[in-house]
Amino acid sequence: MSEKPVLDLLIAAPRGFCAGVDRAIRIVELAIEKHGAPVYVRHEIVHNKFVVDSLKARGAIFVEELTEVPNDAPVVFSAHGVPKSVPANAEARGLDYLDATCPLVSKVHRQAERLVAAGHHIIFIGHAGHPEVIGTFGQVPEGAMTLVENVRDAEALTPANPDNLAFLTQTTLSVDDTAEVVRTLQRRFPSISAPRGEDICYATSNRQAAVKAIAATCDAVLVIGAPNSSNSVRLVEVAEREGIRAALIQRATDLDWSFLDGVAKLGLTAGASAPELLVRELVDHLATRFTVNESEVETTRESIAFKLPRGLETAA
Ligand code: SF4
Repeated sequence: MSEKPVLDLLIAAPRGFCAGVDRAIRIVELAIEKHGAPVYVRHEIVHNKFVVDSLKARGAIFVEELTEVPNDAPVVFSAHGVPKSVPANAEARGLDYLDATCPLVSKVHRQAERLVAAGHHIIFIGHAGHPEVIGTFGQVPEGAMTLVENVRDAEALTPANPDNLAFLTQTTLSVDDTAEVVRTLQRRFPSISAPRGEDICYATSNRQAAVKAIAATCDAVLVIGAPNSSNSVRLVEVAEREGIRAALIQRATDLDWSFLDGVAKLGLTAGASAPELLVRELVDHLATRFTVNESEVETTRESIAFKLPRGLETAA
């Protein structure tokens, strides 16, 4: 019997679930415990098929719009946040709703409201069509915010009043790309107000720093996450920026073995919405073909946890 080739596996830490994702999933679980199935969830609670399927199996029904929720059923809003019109509609219909918006996304929402109240026009750095962006735009009157996705957009911007601008960002952007966009905005509009704190969240920054640290010594990097998960896609880009081949896979069965051709040292991480179980599944899968020498590279330790909404804490 021939011996299996050796594969050195560097696993980034922190990786996987962040405090906002943890909280959102817990809210759906506790809502099912409290109200019984079914509990409706507006949009994927977090962008991960495995998580969504597990919650479906426990009695969650995922819909895209409130109009799909019956009058007598409880509904949870996803971690990405929703426009103000969504809770307003839910209240108007007397729906029992729970808001699983990540507190760090809510913080950006409140900043947007304050800036508009202070008379600023907001330049929002983010990805068009992402639910977080739709939710944040929905906190302020139409026309109060302009989206820029990249440096090109920032260069092309022609605001009506260039002296009255402020910027905010999506929480799950690339730290490096965003810094470039911000530099462009500050060069073009020197009086633009910056957010009080960093809008890119701790989990996004930490996971990017961790993948950067392992990419430097790896031949290739695998990221476990969904293609619609912004922070997961950013992790692939961060690794690629380091000059490393990188790929996003949803779970072990998606792995194309040819990706590992010529790879002696593989880096592995997971997006903020990907459960650790999927990391372990991939390690086991790799072990079917390789003798895996696994080690973890920890760049920082996270201890953040968010409170559950009122009414659910006691059920925890
Ligand atoms: Fe909150 Fe950041 Fe996690 Fe998004 S990635 S849910 S903003 S902690």
